[in-house]
Amino acid sequence: MGSTAFEEMKRTGRLPSPKGVALELMRLLESDDTSIKQITTIVETDPVISSRLLKMVNSPLAGVSRTIASLAMAVNLLGRPAVRNLVLGMSLLESGKNGDSKQFDYQMFWSESLARAVSARHLAPAFGGCAPDEAFTVALLSRIGSLGFAFTYPDLYDEHLANAENMPIAERLAAQRELFGIDQGELSAEMMVCWHLAEVFCTSVRHQDVANYDVGADDDRSTKIVKLLQLAGAFAATFVRDKIYSEDLAELLVAGHTFGLKDELLSDAFDSAKEEWRELGTVFSVATTTDLPSLRDAHSRASRDLKPILVVDDCPVILHKITKDLNGAGYEVRTAANGYDALQAIRSEGYQLVLTDWYMPKMDGLQLCGALRENEVVGFVYVVVLTSSANSEILERAFEAGADDFLVKPWKKIELLARLKAGVRTLNLESTLAAEQREAHKTNAELASLNGKLQRMAITDELTDLHNRREAMNRLREYWAMAKRENNPLACMALDIDHFKHCNDTHGHDAGDAVLRGTSQILKRAVRASESVFRIGGEEFLVLCPNSTLENAAAGAERIRAAVEANTVQHNDLHLKVRVSVGVAQIDDDMAHCEELLKVADKALYEAKDQGRNRVVTSHREPAIAT
Ligand code: GH3
Ligand code: MG
Ligand code: MG
Repeated sequence: MGSTAFEEMKRTGRLPSPKGVALELMRLLESDDTSIKQITTIVETDPVISSRLLKMVNSPLAGVSRTIASLAMAVNLLGRPAVRNLVLGMSLLESGKNGDSKQFDYQMFWSESLARAVSARHLAPAFGGCAPDEAFTVALLSRIGSLGFAFTYPDLYDEHLANAENMPIAERLAAQRELFGIDQGELSAEMMVCWHLAEVFCTSVRHQDVANYDVGADDDRSTKIVKLLQLAGAFAATFVRDKIYSEDLAELLVAGHTFGLKDELLSDAFDSAKEEWRELGTVFSVATTTDLPSLRDAHSRASRDLKPILVVDDCPVILHKITKDLNGAGYEVRTAANGYDALQAIRSEGYQLVLTDWYMPKMDGLQLCGALRENEVVGFVYVVVLTSSANSEILERAFEAGADDFLVKPWKKIELLARLKAGVRTLNLESTLAAEQREAHKTNAELASLNGKLQRMAITDELTDLHNRREAMNRLREYWAMAKRENNPLACMALDIDHFKHCNDTHGHDAGDAVLRGTSQILKRAVRASESVFRIGGEEFLVLCPNSTLENAAAGAERIRAAVEANTVQHNDLHLKVRVSVGVAQIDDDMAHCEELLKVADKALYEAKDQGRNRVVTSHREPAIAT
């Protein structure tokens, strides 16, 4: 039936088919005595194909140590059948990137096909059955039937894709046979027969979706190739997934184990195929993902993250059976004979996934659930309860007790694994959420600290670590408002280092800086606790003295001047003496704005300079009435 349907599809003339160079090459190679020269001459007419062929032969996988720049050499090395099939694959890829189907994602199809091809290429040595380059083409074309449907019956195929989205593979193939008279595997195989690919490849592609396909010693090669295609398919499906969970990767390893492959080999193949996929994606202009995790890293992370599953049952036979099933699926298992022992084990070992029987001595499954839900310390534990029936009353009791899921006895292995997989997914989600939450908290804390830092920076003078002019003005406005409100005195001191320019000129700018820093320290120490000191300009400082009268402030200013005079600033070998002049002022009723206080203090400071420096001058502003 399949081949009649295929003949019909062929007659429409819409099936994907090789064009140009590929077509010519296929015709030419039907005869055995075609020379390498003839092949090269034809391939050379298509520069895109030529360059891609060279790229393939120069890939690390081809095992050629020197760089091959000549097409003739490349053809010689790859061998005529490999060249022909590669050219065929490239030609189909080129013409199959767009079409009429709305549901079929042409780009994704090639992205996944290329992922399958490179995966097959890397896995081929482990399976035997075909050479890496042959594996590449067979896997590249193994699902070409889907493209065949999309090209030939775009509308009907759209409908099918919409319906079949969540169908298991066997059902999907049956639906295709019903609709088109042929399924994807058969159609791909028929197309490959037409293109004269070796029979063993066509047979393998025809059976690519048969689980446990094994025709025994009679067709050992096709059995190996089917397995290769299945594992390469699983790799590719992971490559193109939007988001990859660690259990997807763990599943790949389990799939590999069922074919007798070890973690080491699988991780290597996955990681190198991933690299090559990205590289060839650029060569073939096919989209690839850039941030695929490494299977090795992900696996070690997943196995570190997921604690063993705790299975709780008083019946040793059941414990043994479940342990065997779970071990077979790659899970580590611990056991406990009743709820009480299980609770102790969870407390001490921190198990997160528990499969428990209901009726047990000492503490039953529901009591265990209850204890876990009450116990904050153990964190989130996912509990699957084994029940004897799915009767709604029983299930209600289990869920009320805090169970997350249930499994009815006797269970099927596939159901057991599905329930646990749901548990693993939930736990991963839970830990991702928790990690995101931790990350968010961390970010908030970092932002808060950054904000604090920025705020401090905005009001601090970098050189002396004193508050700057901006902060001086803020504080002055505050003190001013308070003093006016409470009718309290407010005084200030304007300080300026004497002959500072001379210090700079004589000893250098660094010495000047040292003087500024050293004098700042003295000022900080010399002011009263209620007073604050600011650097408001180059070598100018301001001291604000809230609740201080002019006399008090003047006394304080003299103390500060003397402290500066008594001090020596050390800089390298220099011992520098510093002097300051100070102008002191106080607010009075005539002042309308706080800046007037500064002006008056400045005026007093100039007077101090005028009078010979190194002294304090107190403002003697005449009261407004007198002026
Ligand atoms: P007077 O006794 O009249 O105050 O004289 P003066 O030399 O101290 O005053 P003048 O205003 O003429 O010079 C101040 C100098 O301070 C000029 C400027 O280059 C220097 N200066 C300003 N800021 C800094 C700084 O951050 N570091 C150093 N080393 N020098 C500075
Ligand atoms: Mg000065
Ligand atoms: Mg100055």
